[in-house]
Amino acid sequence: MAKAPNPNHFIRAISSNDLKNGKHDYIYTRFPPEPNGYLHLGHAKSICLNFGLAADLGGKCNLRFDDTNPEKESLEYMEAIRDSVAWLGFEWDKLCYASDYYDHLYGFALELIDKGLAYVDDLNAEQMREYRGSLTEAGKDSPSRDRAPAESRDLFERMRAGEFKEGEYTLRAKIDMASPNISMRDPIIYRIRYAHHYRAGDKWCIYPMYDFTHCISDALEGITHSLCTLEFQDNRELYDWFLANITLTENLLGEKGKAMPKQIEFGRSNLEYTVASKRKLIQLVNEGHVNGWDDPRLTTLVGLRRRGYTPASIRNFCADIGVTKKDSTIDMAVLENAIRQDLEASAKRAFGVLNPLKLVITNYPEDQSETFTVKNHPKDESMGTREIPFGREVYIEQDDFMLDPPSKFFRLGPGREVRLRYGYAVTCDEVIQDDAGNVVELRCSYDPLSAKGKTADGRKIKGIIHWVSAANAVDAEVRVYDRLYTEPNPGAAEDFISLINPDSLQVFPNAKLEPSLAEANAEDRFQFERVGYFCFDRVDSSEQKLIMNRTVSLRDTWAKVGK
Ligand code: ATP
Ligand code: MG
Repeated sequence: MAKAPNPNHFIRAISSNDLKNGKHDYIYTRFPPEPNGYLHLGHAKSICLNFGLAADLGGKCNLRFDDTNPEKESLEYMEAIRDSVAWLGFEWDKLCYASDYYDHLYGFALELIDKGLAYVDDLNAEQMREYRGSLTEAGKDSPSRDRAPAESRDLFERMRAGEFKEGEYTLRAKIDMASPNISMRDPIIYRIRYAHHYRAGDKWCIYPMYDFTHCISDALEGITHSLCTLEFQDNRELYDWFLANITLTENLLGEKGKAMPKQIEFGRSNLEYTVASKRKLIQLVNEGHVNGWDDPRLTTLVGLRRRGYTPASIRNFCADIGVTKKDSTIDMAVLENAIRQDLEASAKRAFGVLNPLKLVITNYPEDQSETFTVKNHPKDESMGTREIPFGREVYIEQDDFMLDPPSKFFRLGPGREVRLRYGYAVTCDEVIQDDAGNVVELRCSYDPLSAKGKTADGRKIKGIIHWVSAANAVDAEVRVYDRLYTEPNPGAAEDFISLINPDSLQVFPNAKLEPSLAEANAEDRFQFERVGYFCFDRVDSSEQKLIMNRTVSLRDTWAKVGK
């Protein structure tokens, strides 16, 4: 199981206290997504918190699908979420579904009705809004509020039997229409929906509301600490009310007389230059602004995975941002530094040329070739070495040549000398241009006595550039990603679509890679020296066509641009 993130936060303090003073024998948490979209980085924070806390304190954590909205949920989303949690490196104690508790929930609803704590209401949605009151005004009692429990029970059973239309009746908790907390003003606990549920099928035509379902699911599973984000603060009173008014003598684990779960809220974290709301993500995907949920520019977990982020880098990111009682906005650099740190230590070094320019070494014999033995990692000997072939023709990066370079340009120009990294020094003797003036080939001569970083006459060569042997190069398409948005907080804008960065994807269709890439494992990650960190695109790569994604640049290029 993955390492737990930052253990020193206020929720850990509360939980360990509860263990110390005997309120609980062990810690039991859950991560409770609704299967109505893919997980994003904000969810990762909640996952790391819930699973991390449990692991840290020797407890357990469930993955539970809070699936009470049949119209929005699907098997596809459920499976994707489950796979993302596993990919992040966490193991759940149980895989649970709120929909598996529908029978229990129905039974508890009947209990509340019989106790006079719930009633069937015939107000329609609009009337209910009018009756609810406002922050400054108390609500009004519905005329159905005094319906006799027996009559409510009969109506509720008939709601379940499918005798009524959607919206004709609801079941409401009977709490307090004058409560200053609007969540307590007789909230709906069941509504009629003739909808197919991806898991429960067509068994039900009434569905329990989230607030009713969530606390009872926690209690049934024996959860001790129910961690959620700040927007649920007002719902806590209702959470406690439901649990105080149902009879649960034994939970599904067979534990009797166990303390009820406690809801604790923490702040959401959102990343700058991204949107995370599922509604907005669905719009981006459905309108084709990105190529699916796993588009590498998205901060969905499937997108980050495809982009080359490692599970460890995301867990470290979550540890870095911590857990507090306030919502926070996180600088993109925090995420990028997390993956840079990981890849700096773990990625194999390789040569890749994104925008190739052919360089012919005219004094290198045509029938000759050689190989250089190169370390896979400059600091980590255990990563071994590889052979890189060298010959008369190599590709270099177009950017590493300038026709009329300024004096501080330490790369190649007419008459200039540069070192081909790990290889020889070459001097540019001739520049071949096409009719339009584009540089299409460089003709150079090499110094045979300049191998291994030295020169026979002791002259220093400042510029060192990367290259790939033309005879052995592997063709690839390289995709370089930038931020999807031009604004730090696109989610706040009226029209967040208009803020999409038009240059967020740059494709290099003719990249040339060193031959070792052809044998690489699909999960391998590389640092192309001087260029950035790369991985294979898991979706579009094939035997015929190698596609690589740039995970992150070597350095933060946005720091200079400023915000
Ligand atoms: P979204 O706003 O993206 O639709 P959600 O809260 O509706 O997210 P859920 O599936 O209900 O999605 O989320 C599961 C859990 O993840 C919840 O406990 C929620 O509080 C938490 N979560 C969601 N987004 C964030 C975030 N940005 N930061 C921290 N926790 C989050
Ligand atoms: Mg939610």
